[in-house]
Amino acid sequence: MANSPVSLAISGKTQVFGIIGDPIEHSMSPPMQNAALNALGIDGVYVPFRVEAAKVAEALTGLWALNVRGFNVTIPHKQAVMAELCHVSDLAQAVGAVNTVWRTAAGWAGTNTDVLGFVSPLKVGDRDWTQSRAVVLGNGGAARAVVAGGVELGCAEIWVVGRDRDRLNTFAASWADSPLRPPLHTALWPDLTALLADTHLLVNTTPIGMSPRVDATPVAADALAHLPATAIAYDLIYTPSPTQFLALATQRGLHTVDGVEMLVQQGAAALTLWTQQPAPVDLMRQVLRSHLGLSPL
Ligand code: NAP
Repeated sequence: MANSPVSLAISGKTQVFGIIGDPIEHSMSPPMQNAALNALGIDGVYVPFRVEAAKVAEALTGLWALNVRGFNVTIPHKQAVMAELCHVSDLAQAVGAVNTVWRTAAGWAGTNTDVLGFVSPLKVGDRDWTQSRAVVLGNGGAARAVVAGGVELGCAEIWVVGRDRDRLNTFAASWADSPLRPPLHTALWPDLTALLADTHLLVNTTPIGMSPRVDATPVAADALAHLPATAIAYDLIYTPSPTQFLALATQRGLHTVDGVEMLVQQGAAALTLWTQQPAPVDLMRQVLRSHLGLSPL
């Protein structure tokens, strides 16, 4: 049930999970994860923690002392938290960001479930991406998971489009030692249209089009017209759904993917890590859609 009440029977045995970020007020993870814990019959609670950037180390020491079982990490701490962990998974090392942390005997360990979340809706069917060009709009934190996802899909070329040459160069250089060895190229926005005719996956990782500026789109309709008819338009934004970008892509006849499934799947993977149980993915999706004001699927 999407709106089933979360048990509030907190006792001395209740396991505590959570998410650290700043801001954290609008996080969709607490309702989704609490409903999932409840459905699994786990005596646990998932709590949002606002942690200022300067207090990440202090917060991790505190969470450890308070016997918190595990937690997610969101903006702006996904990179900073890595220095505080005793173990970082190979994938998270390669991506350069951690979004899921759990306890080990030696201390906190971390990994990245955003990559799995991103590729999950693209793995339905047996599409072969090995001849494909992916274009990633934006060069921030989420773009890192998308680049790693492009590698996992086997994309032949991954282009990252940004608005500042220096930041693009820094982004590209940050992959130099990564074992993922992404087939990375960079371009400035004015060069985007020329790339589109051979683009099979176009991913928006910028906040352009996010609520409340819902009329904005990172790519205009006339530029989308250049994409092949088989291209997929993917927007990491989950509110609104669809964004103006995806609405235009749908008008163009393209297959579209919004950010809801990525959010669900990264959360499900984190929950499975903490509980060692399969996550109730359908329920998590329903709860998230309900909280976003989206119709049930
Ligand atoms: P971020 O680190 O702040 O990166 C945002 C990127 O967008 C930066 O490269 C920035 O460019 C670019 N950008 C911002 N405004 C722009 C504009 N007006 N024109 C061109 N480029 C612009 O944020 P993030 O963590 O990557 O998150 C980005 C988006 O992904 C957010 O909407 C977030 O909600 C979404 N997201 C969704 C999920 C999910 O599970 N669905 C997960 C993570 C993130 P500069 O570098 O030049 O500043």
